Amino acid sequence: METRGDTRMQGYADPGLCRELADRIRAALTGRLRFMEVCGTHTVSIYRSGLRSLLPPEVEHVSGPGCPVCVTHAREIAACIALARIPGVIVLTFGDMMRIPDSRGMSLQQAKARGADVRICYSPAEALQLARANPDQEVVFLGVGFETTAPAVAAVVKQAGQNGLDNLSLLSCHKRIPPALGHLLAGRDLDVDALLLPGHVSTVIGLGPYSFLGREFGIPSAVSGFEPADILMGLYSLVRQQEKQKPEVINAYPRAVKDQGNRAAQAVLEEVFDSGPAQWRGLGRIEDSGLYLAPEYSGLDAWKRFGLEDIEDREPPGCRCGEVLKGKLHPRQCPLFGAGCTPSRPAGPCMVSTEGSCAAVFKYGM
Ligand code: SF4
Repeated sequence: METRGDTRMQGYADPGLCRELADRIRAALTGRLRFMEVCGTHTVSIYRSGLRSLLPPEVEHVSGPGCPVCVTHAREIAACIALARIPGVIVLTFGDMMRIPDSRGMSLQQAKARGADVRICYSPAEALQLARANPDQEVVFLGVGFETTAPAVAAVVKQAGQNGLDNLSLLSCHKRIPPALGHLLAGRDLDVDALLLPGHVSTVIGLGPYSFLGREFGIPSAVSGFEPADILMGLYSLVRQQEKQKPEVINAYPRAVKDQGNRAAQAVLEEVFDSGPAQWRGLGRIEDSGLYLAPEYSGLDAWKRFGLEDIEDREPPGCRCGEVLKGKLHPRQCPLFGAGCTPSRPAGPCMVSTEGSCAAVFKYGM
């Protein structure tokens, strides 16, 4: 389809193109299309662009578990805070993790205010520089995110191993998206007709790992980009699959996603990490959904190095992020929304993260 506008990205946000795609969706629609957008970046784009006002009422939207910070389990947050309290430890993290409270309301930001050495980075590679510059301290990188961020973290781990940097370790809280989708669908309490799959994760893993969605669950799915027209193109392909009653995985983001994914990123993931069961906030334990350092790199495993494996915690009192992440509750239905929980005083991660549904609804008022 032709794009309009001065640049390629402007083209994908072009109102005329979006209206045209919305008309196509309306014309092809045969009934309800309640879709779950899996990725937090989709959530924000849908709210920010006002896309829902273009869509017919039969197209309903629910948010899913694709915000990496939001699905980080309470015990993982507690482990991060415990680490920050250990003398001689420098905790290095992406900024979104700073304000997530544990069940007692403590956060990394508060730990830092009380003297903990917690630093924000923009790239995992900064961990290498920090470890070299501070040989008498332990540097721990908090590895949070899906298959999108995990390869860059894996490359850092590999380099640390090659360079003998023994004061650097990783607290891996990385998670895999396909097992979480299988878990949600197998639970049979997910009331959706189709899935809008995450563009970023798919640039790494490609389409293959999603093939079970149509085969086992008969659910149409489409990988989509993040501009409004990208999302509408993804929705159009979902409507067409519904119309033809042929559920499959469509790549509606071919300018960024190759069907086979990124082989180099897959190779470094496979070398550095093994998969195993992981606890997801609100979703519980999901087999094969966590990424843990392979035996060859276990010396860099902060869970083991600092004895954090038995740590436990629960979700903050009253927070209903778990139901929001399963698409069972709109953020406004949480009793704490806008009162006991705001972006400046968040009770749960969905109000903290820029990709969180509660933060998006609070900001854009939908
Ligand atoms: S409004 Fe706050 S407390 Fe409620 S689900 Fe969202 S983040 Fe959790």
